[in-house]
Amino acid sequence: MAPPSRIEHLCMEKGMKMTGQRRIIARVLSEASDHPDVEEVYRRAVRLDPRISIATVYRTVRLFEEASILERRDFGDGRSRYEEAGDEHHDHLIDVQSGKVIEFRSQEIEALQQMVAEQHGYKLVGHRLELFGVRLEKAKGRK
Ligand SMILES: [Zn+2]
Repeated sequence: MAPPSRIEHLCMEKGMKMTGQRRIIARVLSEASDHPDVEEVYRRAVRLDPRISIATVYRTVRLFEEASILERRDFGDGRSRYEEAGDEHHDHLIDVQSGKVIEFRSQEIEALQQMVAEQHGYKLVGHRLELFGVRLEKAKGRK
């Protein structure tokens, strides 16, 4: 059997029972470097085990999310997308034409958000930021 994936490891640490299908879904999510939605996770999982159902993927992803192993993202197209939680914090810039997602981190934005929270008498414990954009046209005659 393959060694446990990163997410499977986290599940075990949280005392979750790991069935064969959960292990496969955990593997698919560990290997994802994009932000797949449930259907995409399902497509990748059935390649490894054709007996996995979309309902199982839904349930498992929700379970992982509730255990704070996954984070849910909403990039404005009505689909929930998932990525591993606990990675270094980053925000997202979404190309609304192609759907491409760029991960970025800005010291200035982080500081600004902290300041806004403090001005309202709060200590910031988290935030979520999605920017939506269209690519700038390149200047004529230049590559
Ligand atoms: Zn991300």
